[in-house]
Formats: sequence, C-alpha cells, structure tokens
Amino acid sequence: MSTSPVLVIGAGPAGLAVAAALGRRGVQAVVLERADDVGASWRRHYERLHLHTTRRWSGLPGLPIPQRFGRWVARADVVSYLEMYASHHRIDVRTGVQVKRVARAGYGRWVVETESGESFTGSTVVVATGYNHTPVPPQWPGVEAFPGELVHASAYRNPGPYRGKDVLVVGAGNTGSEIAVDLTEGGAARVRLAIRTAPHIVRRSNLGWPAQGTGILVRHLPVPVVDRIAAVVARVEVPDLSAHGLPRPTTGLYSRVKQGSVPLQDVGLIAAVQAGDVEPVAALQSFDDDGTVVLADGSRITPDVVIAATGYRRGLEPLVGDLDVLDERGLPRVHGPRTSRSAPGLYFTGYTNPISGMFRELRIDAERIARAISRA
Ligand SMILES: Cc1cc2nc3c(=O)[nH]c(=O)nc-3n(C[C@H](O)[C@H](O)[C@H](O)COP(=O)(O)OP(=O)(O)OC[C@H]3O[C@@H](n4cnc5c(N)ncnc54)[C@H](O)[C@@H]3O)c2cc1C
Repeated sequence: MSTSPVLVIGAGPAGLAVAAALGRRGVQAVVLERADDVGASWRRHYERLHLHTTRRWSGLPGLPIPQRFGRWVARADVVSYLEMYASHHRIDVRTGVQVKRVARAGYGRWVVETESGESFTGSTVVVATGYNHTPVPPQWPGVEAFPGELVHASAYRNPGPYRGKDVLVVGAGNTGSEIAVDLTEGGAARVRLAIRTAPHIVRRSNLGWPAQGTGILVRHLPVPVVDRIAAVVARVEVPDLSAHGLPRPTTGLYSRVKQGSVPLQDVGLIAAVQAGDVEPVAALQSFDDDGTVVLADGSRITPDVVIAATGYRRGLEPLVGDLDVLDERGLPRVHGPRTSRSAPGLYFTGYTNPISGMFRELRIDAERIARAISRA
C-alpha cells in the first residue's frame, strides 16, 4: 500500500490540470492512469478532430497551448500538449493503474483500490475519469439481425474502411455529424444521418468571433434570454435546412445545454447537407428480422454499415457508487471545489458539459480545487 497526500484518478486534461495546480501550491499529487500514457481519450478520438474551442481559451493552468498549434488545435497536437504539460509540471503519473474502487479508510482517509490488487491511501482523492467514459451501446430492437457492420462512434478513426460503402450514422451530435462529413469526403458511397431531435447548429466562428466567446459571455444569463438570443443568431448565420430534412429545433439552445446537449459546431455539415452529400433521415427505430433498418417515419433502408454515435456514460458507479455521492443520473452531487458533507476530501472534476468550453472550465475548476485542498 502506497501513501500520498492527494490521489488523482485519470491523466486526461482534468486530472493533469488539478495535479499541476496543486504542484504550483507545493502540494504533492500522484495521478493514477489506467492507460499507458497521458491523454488517453485524445489518442483514441477520430483523426480529423480539432478542438472546437480556441487555443487561447483551452490552455490548462501554468502552460498555454503553444501558438504554433494554430487557433483550432488538431487532435494530435492536443496529445502533444498534454504530454508536454505533464512533463513541464513534473507530474507524478503512474500509468497502467486501473482504479477499481474508492473506499473510506477511517480517520478521514481514503483508500483507492486498483485492479492489480495494489492500494493507495491518501487524505484527498480527486476523481477525473472523464465525462465521456463508457460508450453507450445501441439498444435498438432486433439489432442482432443486422447483417452489416455495426460500430460505436468511439471506435471510428477515419473513413478508410468505409470507402465505397453505404453508411448510416445514427446521432446528430458533434461526433456523429463530423463523422458523416468525414465519410463523404473520404469516399463513402452514400452517407445518411439519422436524427431523433433536430440539433442546434452554430458556426464555429463568425467574422473571426468564436462561438465559444459567445458561450462565455452568456453563460450566466437566464436560460430563456439565451434561448431567445440564440434563436435570432441562428436565423442570421445558419440557413434553413428543412427542405433537406434537417428542420430548425423547437426547443431553445440553452435549455438543451441544461439537459446535457451542447450545440453542434459546424465543421462542414451545413455544406454537406446542402450539397446532398449527407442525407438527414428519421431516427433509427428498429431492425426487421432480415436486418433491414426501420426508421421512425416508417421507411426501410439497407445500409452496409451503421455507426452509432449514441454517446457515453460517466461510468462512476463501480468507482464511488456506494459512497452516496452520485445523483440519479450517475453524476456527482457536488462538483469542483466543493465536497459532499458525507465524503470530505473526495473531489470530482470534468463531469459537466458547459457552453463555455470544457478545457476552460477544467482550468478554472483545477485552480479552485487546488486552492480548497491546499487550504484544507
Ligand atoms: C470528440 C470530443 C471532442 C471534444 N472537443 C472539445 C473541445 O473542442 N473543447 C473543449 O473544451 N472540450 C472538448 N471536449 C470535451 C472535453 O474537454 C474532453 O472530453 C476532455 O478530454 C475531458 O477531459 P477529462 O480529463 O475530464 O477526461 P478524459 O480526457 O476522458 O480523461 C480521463 C482519463 O481517466 C482515465 N481513466 C478512466 N477511468 C479510469 C480508472 N478507473 N482508473 C484509472 N484511470 C482511469 C482515462 O484513461 C483517461 O485518460 C471534447 C470531447 C469529445 C469526446
């Protein structure tokens, strides 16, 4: 059993940011990471991904993202930045350590149990295992009869394997929409995008002003006010795609964010839909006995491949589910610098999906958490 003042679980941007902010206050932290390196999520993301948030507003405490990475930082450069970040701050990352459970050890201490049987104890634990932790598998009735290839978006890397194929992407969030665009540009024979709820679409930047900037400015305004502003902006900057099968959403943009669904940043979807390269279709409802896909409007299609951009779960239950710190959605009841009265010394970071950009919020939370821990 090893002992350290602060144990951080997860070496993604959230965990690294907290460890660095603590280090700058002279508090030693050990970061436990199940993968072989830092930034594991960003190593796995699809290849064409860039940050939708600006380089300037995505830097973590104590080290800005280098200017040479450009305004919209590429996935591989995010990985390089995280590697650079861990080494710049001399963060003690223990890789290949999969945490199984966090438990009380008595006398205000915590024990972190790992899959290998090794345990770590500390007075403080920061859980930073990621909002997009466990891919949600599709639960469509009859899916086992589908004779084609069924892939979760988390396993999609590039369009290569789908060249010449008829692909149905299910889910019009940022990931599903960008994969659909990637497929058309990469030579798929046909790309359809199944949409259950029409997404809010925003331009990544307009006349040089990033959508993230607006998110930062409006985030503390009342939800109905932001909904109204967003509806006006959408009418000005986003063409009406109803004739192409993509209607404008009926609920407000910020109302949707509060329900956990961030707007779709356009990186080619609007043009691809207008050109007929990506065809919006109704939601996937079920599969027939012969594997035909049945859509919510009753139409039937036979794609070669279905890519399920059906999202992720937080996956915190095995880790902390018996500590009475999660709400009914599996999210931590308290977050950032606050801790639950029943679990002092147990912090969570990275479990919100803010309109102002997650890297930015991770930076702010890291400083607040480090301040709270160093005071304690
Ligand atoms: C496709 C995509 C694009 C995004 N683009 C942006 C963007 O442009 N701007 C922005 O601000 N945000 C963006 N985000 C949101 C967010 O910033 C990222 O998801 C970011 O990586 C979150 O950091 P994190 O450290 O909380 O989680 P992660 O990066 O997921 O890191 C969690 C770490 O914990 C480790 N781990 C998990 N479970 C265990 C365990 N039991 N034991 C040990 N280690 C464990 C994982 O291996 C991983 O390394 C994006 C998210 C996605 C999915």
